[in-house]
Amino acid sequence: MKQVPLKKTAIIGTGPGGLMAASQLALSGSAEVHVFERRSGFGRKLLIAGSSGLNISHHLPIDEFAAHYEGCTKEEWKKLLTQFGPTEWIQFLNQELGLETFLGTSDRYFVREMKAANLLKAWTQFLEKHGVKFHSEHELIGFQSTHTNITLEFKTPNGVTTAPFDQAALFLGGGSWENEMPSWVELFRKKNIKVVEFAPSNVGYEVAWSSAFLKESEGQPLKKVLLSTSRGKKLGELVITKYGLEGTPVYFCGISGKATLDLKPDLTESEILKRLRDMKENFSPMRRVKHLLGLSPAAESLVFHHAGEAKEQLEKLISMIKRFPIELIKPRPLEEAISSRGGVALNEISEIYEFKKFPRIFCGGEMLDWDAPTGGFLIQACVSQGARIGKHLAS
Ligand SMILES: Cc1cc2nc3c(=O)[nH]c(=O)nc-3n(C[C@H](O)[C@H](O)[C@H](O)COP(=O)(O)OP(=O)(O)OC[C@H]3O[C@@H](n4cnc5c(N)ncnc54)[C@H](O)[C@@H]3O)c2cc1C
Repeated sequence: MKQVPLKKTAIIGTGPGGLMAASQLALSGSAEVHVFERRSGFGRKLLIAGSSGLNISHHLPIDEFAAHYEGCTKEEWKKLLTQFGPTEWIQFLNQELGLETFLGTSDRYFVREMKAANLLKAWTQFLEKHGVKFHSEHELIGFQSTHTNITLEFKTPNGVTTAPFDQAALFLGGGSWENEMPSWVELFRKKNIKVVEFAPSNVGYEVAWSSAFLKESEGQPLKKVLLSTSRGKKLGELVITKYGLEGTPVYFCGISGKATLDLKPDLTESEILKRLRDMKENFSPMRRVKHLLGLSPAAESLVFHHAGEAKEQLEKLISMIKRFPIELIKPRPLEEAISSRGGVALNEISEIYEFKKFPRIFCGGEMLDWDAPTGGFLIQACVSQGARIGKHLAS
């Protein structure tokens, strides 16, 4: 019987998107797979993400899950997540990589060990076992493509090298957490591919705290507070930093301008009033708050240092606790952001993530112009797109 030749396939980038595309190809057995990475080590951003607990996905019905994404239509996200969503991703981790996962109290999925190093090790070992070849210190610096084949050009420690492939998929990552603009942006623009300017997303914001407050509370959490901005509301924990605020609520709905903090979201204003008014001792309003409200120390300090005359009037103090005004001055820079808006314009690629101008070259993950909040939505989108592209290349 005539043997079908294996498709020589290049996957560029060793983040979750590239590794998942390589995995689908490896499982299919239909390709000779080469994975390239410009750095000497693999999966840098995955390792960074893992340093604060590796939140790999979220437990939500597909319809609600898809509503968390910007860029592409909700229908397109639903289709992608239906083909390879949280269930398939968790199954892959459990069955193919042998890793235990769990669902946290906040409906977020984590790998049991909470670290990315073991995930990365298990993943690269799985791929090597399936015959995938890894090439570190290979930076993609050029590409050509026709309808029959492609040529890729790499910068390596031994000079520039070119190699022919049948097909390739690029997962080069976004603009966040980098010291400089990724080199692929200029390469793509030279090739007449539109790249939307990067902007920070899932990022801390600057707030002008008073020095007395900062002295007391820098580095401390504002536990279980509700942040409201013109972008929406989000409950969670914020951390006071020298320059402002970090934490899920500000990543979720941060936007420059006026915002308010509800420092006691589980009680209404009248419930707080009842609790504080009924105190027998003749304490000042601020002392009542301290003794009866159970605010976190940073929240108490925030009120104490910024409430001015309201500290002496119970109703005014309560109103401030429920609607503490803050000004989010501006986001922190791209280098400090968890993710970025911007990237390859979505109209440059087809429904199957193939460049319209460069046939046989595909692109996915954070380098595309979509965005989502933290909470596992970013990694999930990257692996879903990686699976979609990998399965297509294997077919
Ligand atoms: C601090 C932090 C915390 C995070 N926490 C979470 C979290 O808890 N949950 C979550 O879902 N997401 C989180 N993320 C985001 C998540 O890490 C990214 O969404 C994800 O890694 C993007 O995957 P990717 O495959 O698109 O690209 P990346 O992981 O960025 O990988 C791209 C790879 O391509 C390589 N590359 C780039 N250019 C070239 C080139 N020209 N040639 C060859 N190789 C190249 C890069 O070196 C890199 O290794 C976090 C990110 C940060 C920074």
